[in-house]
Amino acid sequence: MNTFIFEKQMKIFLATLISVFFISGNVFAQKNLLTKENITTVVKEAYEKYKNVTDGKNADYIKELATVDPNIFGIALVTTDGQVYTMGDVESMVSIQSVSKVFTMAKVIEEQGYQALQDKIGVDATGEVFNSITAIERMKGKEINPLVNPGAIAATSLINGSDSASKWASILQVHSDFAGRELSLNMPVYISEAGDNLRNQAIAHLLLAYGRMYFDPVQATDIYTKQCAINVNAKDAGIMAATLANGGVNPVTKKVVVSPETVMYTLPVMSTAGLYDDSGIWFYHTGVPAKSGVGGCLIAVVPGQFGIAVISPPLDKAGNSVKGQLAIEYIVDQLNADPYLIQPSK
Ligand code: GLN
Repeated sequence: MNTFIFEKQMKIFLATLISVFFISGNVFAQKNLLTKENITTVVKEAYEKYKNVTDGKNADYIKELATVDPNIFGIALVTTDGQVYTMGDVESMVSIQSVSKVFTMAKVIEEQGYQALQDKIGVDATGEVFNSITAIERMKGKEINPLVNPGAIAATSLINGSDSASKWASILQVHSDFAGRELSLNMPVYISEAGDNLRNQAIAHLLLAYGRMYFDPVQATDIYTKQCAINVNAKDAGIMAATLANGGVNPVTKKVVVSPETVMYTLPVMSTAGLYDDSGIWFYHTGVPAKSGVGGCLIAVVPGQFGIAVISPPLDKAGNSVKGQLAIEYIVDQLNADPYLIQPSK
């Protein structure tokens, strides 16, 4: 080999070696915050820092929710390799409420494809409260999304199944698969909301009038109300979030729940509409897809790394858990987990 070619090859070899060194160094620089010790410390700090916060108030428009212990405060962080970190009360169960909208949306995408979801429901943020009727009226039932009530009831109506019982069974099953255990219904919450959900029934009927409801509106609203009353604790919700973070495979049970493509289309809707009319400010501060529910559950997903859930019932004006937002924002920040925190290339 002549020396010129040899030198050239050596240079290429050295350049490759150096860039591999720097790239892996960079990955380490971003990832080494996710050590066991660090995660344990940060989760504990978030708990201690916010456990005495008393701001916010339980939802009471569903009467049963007003009676839930406002002091429940549990945090669960679950990594994509299945490690579970918890702090506080991760046993007490609350109704999942709107967090369920994520998993029913994912099931619809799984069954009918992302285009059907976009065409038959819509994927735009409404910029209005979660049970806004003016948003449906303004958009003639279009351009809503599956994370606010109209789109969520429409998503329930789209779930495969010829009757109400089979649709409900399928919805409960997918929630259980995401959580990695058999979940069940919080009967008092279901009964309390079912007896008092005229507004959601109105939404379902208005959608029917616009040709955007795909099953009997009364039954679809009933299934939706049941879905919102599924009981979860912080650990369940953390594993559900981690299943999304892990491309649809439950990191604890290893079950394939939905495909990576389904997750790819689910997370952006969480990013734009997961915290109702405060979705923008949430995303601005954390950069992570999340979803809240009026039962006090908040989940967030750091793609490829971990899922996190907090349960704390007192809500702010937009209907989002006060401590949930504080704790998750703190943890994401301390672990440098905002995906938009980009290390410039050297
Ligand atoms: N079941 C509740 C409702 O439809 C869910 C609302 C929520 O969690 N934001 O009003």
